[in-house]
Amino acid sequence: MSEFAYPKKLKRRILIVEDEEINREILANILEDYYEVSCAENGAQALQLLREHTAPYSLILLDLLMPVMSGEEFLTEIKADEQLSGIPVIVMTSEKPAEVSSIKMGADDFITKPYDSPEVILARCERIIQLYEDNSIIRSAEKDELTELFTREFFQEYVRQIDSYDEAADDAIVINIEHFHMINEMFGRETGDEVLKKLAGMLLRVFGNGTCIGCRPDADYFYLYVDHRDSYDNVFAGLSEELAGYSHIPKIRIRAGIYQNVDRHISIEDRFDHAKLACDRIRGDYTKQINYYSKELNDADLYHERLINDIDDAIANRDLIVFYQPKYGIQSEKPVLRSAEALIRWKHPELGMISPGDFIPLFESNGLIQKLDHYVWREAAARIRDWKERFDYTLPVSVNVSRVDIYDPELEQRLLDILEENGLSTSELMLEITESAYADDAKGLTEVINNLRNRGFKIEMDDFGTGYSSLNMITSIPIDVLKIDMSFIRNMNKDEKSRKLVELVMDIAKFIKVPAVAEGVEDESQLKALKEMGCELIQGYYFSRPVPPEEFEKFIIDEKEN
Ligand code: C2E
Ligand code: CA
Ligand code: CA
Repeated sequence: MSEFAYPKKLKRRILIVEDEEINREILANILEDYYEVSCAENGAQALQLLREHTAPYSLILLDLLMPVMSGEEFLTEIKADEQLSGIPVIVMTSEKPAEVSSIKMGADDFITKPYDSPEVILARCERIIQLYEDNSIIRSAEKDELTELFTREFFQEYVRQIDSYDEAADDAIVINIEHFHMINEMFGRETGDEVLKKLAGMLLRVFGNGTCIGCRPDADYFYLYVDHRDSYDNVFAGLSEELAGYSHIPKIRIRAGIYQNVDRHISIEDRFDHAKLACDRIRGDYTKQINYYSKELNDADLYHERLINDIDDAIANRDLIVFYQPKYGIQSEKPVLRSAEALIRWKHPELGMISPGDFIPLFESNGLIQKLDHYVWREAAARIRDWKERFDYTLPVSVNVSRVDIYDPELEQRLLDILEENGLSTSELMLEITESAYADDAKGLTEVINNLRNRGFKIEMDDFGTGYSSLNMITSIPIDVLKIDMSFIRNMNKDEKSRKLVELVMDIAKFIKVPAVAEGVEDESQLKALKEMGCELIQGYYFSRPVPPEEFEKFIIDEKEN
């Protein structure tokens, strides 16, 4: 708020500048009931009062003919003073020419001497104060205090104005600072504020004040409405570096979503939602700094929304089906069925079969994965029990445990409940946790895993080699199985490097004394090579794709017959 926006309950302060005592008294009498009144005998005294007073004056009533410093000199002085120039002035005079010249010098109104009726004087004072305050409220509501960009409301209003008079194409841009909350946390809010301020200034500089309006709708998001450009490739390139250099935060990075040639038939809000969608889509993707909105992007977003909407129905209607893929032990002469991995499939009534690659990352990002995982765990446990009962055969099944699940304080109890419902023990349901989860919060994870292992659960580290775990970490985190990521297997017989990496992972497994599983094994040559390296278990199309439970039963039957 501007310093002139007074709380309504307070009396405004008026300064009377008048050399004749009788006049001062008349005015003070009229005003006193409604205002705090101060008086000065001439311009010099008035200036002194104004400058030493901390509380702002809402109005000055100014006589023109005074000794020491005349009203006109006084006016000239305060209009040149940044602190005082905004205070409205009513000139009190009996001469026409003086009225005109004082208005020219910046007076806002005048009262004629001898004084009009008290009502007229009060009304004039009130009107001028009101007008002035309305203006200053508008001015302070117009701009974001920190960055001096427009506030959301005024930004929208100005975009509407541009729409109405400017026919040239425009682009809507949304800019965000990656991991801004971390900057606040690590370097303090003040630094965070400085970064925001600096970035706002940089953006206005880059786009030029005339062709762009900007707003900061919240936190670390910036909206820009700019004259259309075909490409922004070079516009944002230097900005991250400049911001990094300025703030001494080397990893600071901004990203931008751009909706070009905005459709003026859609609302301003929608235009920026489009740009924001493009911007948010590259969150965390360090290979891309700008992303353009497109229809495909929008379609993908709608598709995602649809999946999010439909997940509850899918669970209720059992459109989610758990498939099983066998894992075989290969160190014996003949491969032996050892366990299976439960992998989800979605048979959508309208969209058809949806691959987990389409919905798992989505549900991981919004937490819905928990619902889905609980469903899979339950299904898998019921299946183990069913097979046990029907085939008198115990086949341990691995289920996937997402990062979100790990931070669920109820995780252990949930799993135990599911096992109990099905009369199973903890050794029968194995847990696959992806390696990248380990890098996030190794300490917290170690605790969770320790507890689970103490209960008898077996933990498999999934997708090993894709994350950033160090050898040091691997030795300190308790696990039971190391699962090498498919990407290494895929190329192990094609290039030397991949083969070396697989060997290295096998050595690590030996070093920490756990069996290794290779997944994505598709052909015999891979199997042979892995067997030679001492890999214990194999999962992959070579043996079978993930299949529905009924189909999986043949592996159990085969195993029993042999
Ligand atoms: P993942 O856990 O690494 O699962 C292995 C993936 O490799 C599966 O893909 C499987 O079908 C595929 N695969 C197995 N053998 C081969 C092979 O020989 N060649 C090739 N090219 N692929 C093979 P899928 O079923 O599409 O699942 C993809 C990912 O989705 C899984 O990767 C897992 O991260 C996730 N996922 C699947 N089901 C669930 C679930 O119930 N919960 C959670 N949280 N994630 C799941
Ligand atoms: Ca897995
Ligand atoms: Ca995997």
